[in-house]
Amino acid sequence: MLCKGQQTAAGTTTVTEWQYGRNGAVSITYDDASRNQFLKALPVMEQLKIPATFFVITGPIKGSKYQGKFVGRPVREIIKESETVPANDQNFLERCSAAGYLGYIGTISYHTQAGGMYDRGHKDRAFKLMDSLYTQVRHGEFKPGYEPCPEYKEAIGSTWDDFRKDAAEGYEIASHSITHATMPGLDEANIRYELEKSREDILRELGPKYTFSCEVPYGYENERVMQIAYKIYPALRNRMPEPWLKEIDRASKQTPGTTDKDYIQWQRGATTKTPLPLMKSWVDTAAAKNNTWLVLVFHGIDGLGYEPVSSTLLDEYFQYIRSKEDQLWVATFGDVTRYMREREAAKVNMSKNNGKITVKLTDSLDRKMYDLPLTLKTYVPSGWKKVKEIQGKHIRQLPVKKDEKGNYVLYQAESGAGAITLTKTL
Ligand SMILES: [Zn+2]
Repeated sequence: MLCKGQQTAAGTTTVTEWQYGRNGAVSITYDDASRNQFLKALPVMEQLKIPATFFVITGPIKGSKYQGKFVGRPVREIIKESETVPANDQNFLERCSAAGYLGYIGTISYHTQAGGMYDRGHKDRAFKLMDSLYTQVRHGEFKPGYEPCPEYKEAIGSTWDDFRKDAAEGYEIASHSITHATMPGLDEANIRYELEKSREDILRELGPKYTFSCEVPYGYENERVMQIAYKIYPALRNRMPEPWLKEIDRASKQTPGTTDKDYIQWQRGATTKTPLPLMKSWVDTAAAKNNTWLVLVFHGIDGLGYEPVSSTLLDEYFQYIRSKEDQLWVATFGDVTRYMREREAAKVNMSKNNGKITVKLTDSLDRKMYDLPLTLKTYVPSGWKKVKEIQGKHIRQLPVKKDEKGNYVLYQAESGAGAITLTKTL
């Protein structure tokens, strides 16, 4: 029994941490768009009605306008210059940006490796590797031609029509650059090309909704790259600038502990050797806390792509996630980001008169990008057994629920779409 003094005042309204008042959130994400993600994993998710986000490399998609290229002066000038000037702070990014586009097969891996070394601060090793590449090129040690990185080749086969169909089913298609480039090894013009032109193809083929999220390849959190990428895509899985969000990345051994931030984004990557019980324990942790967003990262499926997992294992895993549906909100990466930002920006006003509760929900975000309904929780007088909720043209009958603070209703509300009224019904 509740004492009267403990009851929350009728009309008190909050936006729940997650949609539908769930305890936690889960987003399933796939990188690289390797073919088996669509041929093997997607049918499993369609069967279970599980949403997901696919970070796709746009260059190999049939019909894309933009392919990989080097943005800069003619590469022969750069090759010539390398004869007399070794790689250094001034020329490294230009040479590393051009490395895959010198007109030879087998050079892209030098870009990938040197870019990674440069990101980790091993500049001398990165310079040395560039010098070795350009020396071999000058000595004619590579076969002429063009060869993209393995991730690019494994993504060949999907079409924009395929992605339009997936998007219509509720899947989020998002950018993973044009060629899966190693961005810390690119100069600004080439980073912009990889991200802006990938966005342009997605915008033309799928529309603005799918230009929201992006994952810069290899999970880099390089500050210079992030600062450019944030201005092109509102949501990066790599890292987000929000002061209210704690992020635990895939490489970290940390588990979501206590925090003074409102939310924790906990990224876990399942690889070939990850045991299913461990993967299930991540879901349990997210369900047991109230501030945790589990972001799962998958790459290869059934033998194709980086660290492949089997679609049979995914089937069992996704069924497990589905079984926790009353505790976990399963949604795309973009939708969970939208929800958190809308909630953080939300202003809730409440007034009461003549047995009617009126709630106003507003925020200053751009409605074109942030259009997800928020879940509101409003305490109602103890005598109310059923509640009618009206916002604009929507009229709903809500069941009254009860927690330790009193009787309440949960409902979906659109920000800026007019006042919401709650009245008692019989
Ligand atoms: Zn990738």
